[in-house]
Amino acid sequence: MSRILITGVTGQDGSYLAEALVARGDEVHGTVQQLGEAVSDGVTAHQIDLSEAGVGDLIRELRPDTVVNLAAISSVYSSWQQPELTARINGLSVAEMLAVARELGAAGHEVRFVQASSAEIFGVPADVPQTEKTAIAPTSPYGASKAYAHSLVGLYRSAGVWASSAILYNHESPRRPETFVTRKITAAAARISLGLQETLELGNLAARRDWGWAPDYVDALMRIGDAEKPDDFVIATGVAHSVEDFVEAAFGRAGISDWREHVVVSDELLRSGDAPQQLGDASHARDTLGWSPTVDFLGIVRAMVDHDLELAAR
Ligand code: GDP
Repeated sequence: MSRILITGVTGQDGSYLAEALVARGDEVHGTVQQLGEAVSDGVTAHQIDLSEAGVGDLIRELRPDTVVNLAAISSVYSSWQQPELTARINGLSVAEMLAVARELGAAGHEVRFVQASSAEIFGVPADVPQTEKTAIAPTSPYGASKAYAHSLVGLYRSAGVWASSAILYNHESPRRPETFVTRKITAAAARISLGLQETLELGNLAARRDWGWAPDYVDALMRIGDAEKPDDFVIATGVAHSVEDFVEAAFGRAGISDWREHVVVSDELLRSGDAPQQLGDASHARDTLGWSPTVDFLGIVRAMVDHDLELAAR
C-alpha cells in the first residue's frame, strides 16, 4: 500500500485516479479548493488553495510516497482570462512541491512526483507527430505555465528527485466540463436532438486534436508513478481528428443528420496561437510502461453523447 497525494482530486482526472487507487488499496489524500466538495469514497480531503503557498507544508506533514499533480487552471481559454492565476497554480505550486520533495529526499524519504504536463507546451508544434524531444515553444499562458513546470520537473530529476512528466494530449469523458469543446458539443447535440436547444456556437472547426479517453490517461499516470525510473512520457493516441469531425460524429450519434443547420461559427471563440494540429507519438510510454489506449475516437464520442442524452432526458 502506498500513500498518495493527488492535487486537484475533484477534477476529471483526479476523480478517476482516486477511484482507481482506492480500489487497489492505496491510502489516498487529495487537495480540494473548498472543504465540503464531493470527493470519491475513501479519499481524505485537505483544503489547499494552490494559488498560495501551503501545499509544501501538507507534503511535509503527510510524507506521501507519491504526489500526482493534477490541480490546474486546465483550459487554454481560461488561461487567457487569468494569466497570473494560471502561473501561480500551474507553475509556482510545482516549484514549491518539488523543493519539498528534494528536502524530504535529502532527509531519507523519497517522494515520487508525477506532473500532468501538456501537449500545449509545444505550442504550434515543430514536429509531426510530437515526441518527448519536440521543441518546447508554448503559445498561450496555459502552455507557458505548463512549460515552466515541465522544465522544473526535468531539472529536479537531474538533481536526484524522482520526478516524471506525463505530456498529456486532450483526454475526454462524461466528466469533462463544458468549457472544453468535446463536452460542449456532446451536451449541445443531446439537447438539440430533444428540442431543448436550437444552436451551438463554436470557434475553430478546423483545429485537429489527438483526443483520448480520460480513464486511459489516468492508467498512464499510475504506470508512470509505478515505473522503475522517472522520465518524460508523451501520452496520446497517435490519431488526430478535427473539431468538425467531432461535431459530425456527435450529432450523428444523437440522431441529427445535418449538423450544419445547428452550428454557428463565432469569431469571438477563435483563439490566438491555437495549434492547427496536435498529434502525439506515445511509443516511449508503450515500450517502457506497456501503456496503450483502449478507447478510440468514435468510442469516446459515443460514451459522451449517450451520457448526455440520458442527462438531457431527465
Ligand atoms: P484545450 O485547448 O486543451 O483547452 O481544449 P479545448 O477542448 O478547449 O479546445 C480544443 C480545440 O477546440 C481548440 O483548438 C479550440 O480552439 C477548438 N474550439 C473550437 N470551438 C471551440 C469552443 O467553442 N470551445 C472550446 N473550448 N474550444 C473550441
